[in-house]
Amino acid sequence: MNVSTFGSRFAEPSGISILMEDLGRAMAGQDRMLMLGGGNPAHIPEVQAVWRDRMRALLDDGAAFDCMLANYDTPKGNAVFIDTMVSFLNRRCGWDLTRDNLAIMNGGQTALFCLMNMFSGPSADGVHRKIVFPLMPEYIGYADQGLADGGYRAYRPRIDLLDDRQFKYHVDFDALALGDDAGALCLSRPTNPTGNVLPDAELRQLVALAKSRDVPVIIDNAYGNPFPGILFGDALPVWDTHTILTFSLSKLGLPGTRTGIVVGPPEVIKMLESMNSVLSLASGNVGQALVTPLLANDDIVRLAEDVIRPFYRERSEQAQAWVRDSFPTQVDYRYHKSEGSMFLWLWFRDLPITTRELYERLKKRGVLIVPGACLNRNLRSFEVAYFTDHHHVRI
Ligand code: PLP
Repeated sequence: MNVSTFGSRFAEPSGISILMEDLGRAMAGQDRMLMLGGGNPAHIPEVQAVWRDRMRALLDDGAAFDCMLANYDTPKGNAVFIDTMVSFLNRRCGWDLTRDNLAIMNGGQTALFCLMNMFSGPSADGVHRKIVFPLMPEYIGYADQGLADGGYRAYRPRIDLLDDRQFKYHVDFDALALGDDAGALCLSRPTNPTGNVLPDAELRQLVALAKSRDVPVIIDNAYGNPFPGILFGDALPVWDTHTILTFSLSKLGLPGTRTGIVVGPPEVIKMLESMNSVLSLASGNVGQALVTPLLANDDIVRLAEDVIRPFYRERSEQAQAWVRDSFPTQVDYRYHKSEGSMFLWLWFRDLPITTRELYERLKKRGVLIVPGACLNRNLRSFEVAYFTDHHHVRI
């Protein structure tokens, strides 16, 4: 078969496809794997119980259940869910959103695919725009999303070495240059894979810079506040005329519902609605139906703060303790300060093999990690390789 360049782009294995395949096999129990990679949320019993109760309540309310399964929503999403989410975000964050600021997509991943391609690639004014990643490394799932070659530009971080073998990445504002071709900035906060949380001041500086060039900042809030709240310090979600926030129900324990929420300027939301109708007609509404009452009464915040956050904080502390206790002292290792998300990012400065080899070796021994020497051999989209060196792994 002869396929188009669009088709052949997806014929080659990408970082995220290899990762999802390994993850899916491990989850399906085909390999006995110790899952230290991948972003599947934990099955937290209290959280599972909430979703089971909600599903029972929907079943008992026959009309709601039938509407959920038997109706297409509009491409924008479910009207009740959107209105409830708008009130929730305004109440919790002090914003003044209207329903024109929200669109529901089939997962954060799909939302980000649309946004990456909305703001990168060839444009009517002749400029080949780029998504600028101000702080690498970033979420592997962005790597192959840009359909246009050369659609991404990325910047290495400034590194602060901290006590107790820790370190923290910061935006290197001296190096960061938006240029005339910046279409948007993009970052995840908390960051997958590093567990970094960009400080409020740095985020504000980025937003001000973007605003001065009239480009948006895409802030991927998959792990952030007010839900799922996998964030261990104080970091405020930021909303501005030039921010586009993506939220997801996945890390609340609902990845199977594929529900992503985009909060952005009305003109961007309108474009996303059109894209959604072409791509999917409408988004899945099971997640929206499950979560709506918990938004209305703020129970979602209690679930995030009282159950989900402590669960991941405890796991993070445990992982750090195991690393400290079990790595020989002569190994030159450091780990990124764990400020959120569900990963620990290790740095082996004098590792004699690449982390790709380490990944393969550990996989053979039943341990799955994510290597910094990117799984992705197809780096067409990046001017700076996705990972800045070959000595990091995510567990
Ligand atoms: N963004 C980040 C930073 C992620 O880690 C993930 C998934 O792990 C996603 C987006 C996509 O999540 P979903 O499509 O399940 O909403």
